[in-house]
Amino acid sequence: MEILVINAGSSSLKYQLINVETGNVLAKGLAERIGMDGSNIVHSWTKDEKEYKKEINIDLPDHTVAFNAISDLLVGDETGVIREREDIKAIGHRVVHGAEAYTQTQVITDEVKKAIEELIPLAPLHNPANLIGINAAEKAFPNATQVAVFDTAFHHTIPEKAFRYAIPEKFYREDRIRAYGFHGTSHKYVYEQASKYLNKTDLKAITIHLGNGASMCAINEKGESVETSMGFGPLAGLIMGTRSGDIDPSIIFHMAEEMNMPLDEVKNILNKQSGMLGIAGSNDARDVSKLYHAGDRNAILCYEMYTHRIKKYIGAYTAVLNGVDAIIFTAGIGENDALTRQLACQNLSALGIILSEEANISKNHPKQPVEIQAENSRVKILVVPTNEELEIALQTWEVVK
Ligand code: AMP
Repeated sequence: MEILVINAGSSSLKYQLINVETGNVLAKGLAERIGMDGSNIVHSWTKDEKEYKKEINIDLPDHTVAFNAISDLLVGDETGVIREREDIKAIGHRVVHGAEAYTQTQVITDEVKKAIEELIPLAPLHNPANLIGINAAEKAFPNATQVAVFDTAFHHTIPEKAFRYAIPEKFYREDRIRAYGFHGTSHKYVYEQASKYLNKTDLKAITIHLGNGASMCAINEKGESVETSMGFGPLAGLIMGTRSGDIDPSIIFHMAEEMNMPLDEVKNILNKQSGMLGIAGSNDARDVSKLYHAGDRNAILCYEMYTHRIKKYIGAYTAVLNGVDAIIFTAGIGENDALTRQLACQNLSALGIILSEEANISKNHPKQPVEIQAENSRVKILVVPTNEELEIALQTWEVVK
């Protein structure tokens, strides 16, 4: 069975058509600049084990037109991988925020759509775009079951002592201010891959998702998320590509009140101009790593700060879990940047975490889970490629089969 997985942005649609029995990606692509001039679709597909790619410049006034164009590509003579549009029986949508209402994957009904809409104040950038994607998919694929997979869902097991902020209760009860956590699909996927790989069902693990956004998660022996580094929004926790991660909130008051900066500007600085970009001048770890090796002072500091923060959370989550069996690196930086893994694991032998520098380098960017700890390390150190789209497809399949 083929499942179409959708990640909708306000002017983009990212898609993958996945066969859930084999896990194979039949086709994938990205429609960009929807509703603007110069819109296009980059579509790639696999036929007879060969990969093909095509860029199509096409007017995409809205998401429904984009879905129809994608559907034409999926069935087209040259670019097609399925016979007809009706072959797609289910569509899995990545939805960023499900708050406390949705702790499981849901078949989308009017009620679910109303709830996603109602949660817009909690995810003002993402939920509206996700909703546009759902409405457009319903129009373009009226016979398919639409399913929502929530980024926050995996974290619903976090206990109240960990998800509440120490502010008056009213803000939680009436205004829903609490830590929700994100990247849940990725944390769950790499944990389950690691558990399978290690053949251990009661694995206690710390998952470290280091992409452009970054977060860590403490997962107990029952496979439940019990702590995560992102909070009410995705700005908390680790240092990221352009986000600051944890800062003292009084910096915000200082910027607003003493430096007379409008709140919008403060928000922009913390979300878009901070993190690696703010410290080292680039939000791409590949650039920063080159500068690091060339001896650039800011790049060296950036790596030190970035990995110091990860280390602090490793220590905290080891305490929360009362010991760990494995730490798991994933996503763009976690899978591909040996330097980050090396520095993040340095001097952690007191916690039983000892990296093999040789394995860390030789097993960089793996296609399957790999182990990179030293022989005398009590804790396994794994690199596990994440695959959020496959996890969304599998979860969608679970509710429609
Ligand atoms: P993601 O959000 O998981 O796609 O991760 C994107 C980030 O991964 C990019 O911004 C890069 O910083 C990082 N990245 C991707 N490939 C590499 C690589 N080969 N070496 C270091 N960092 C990489």
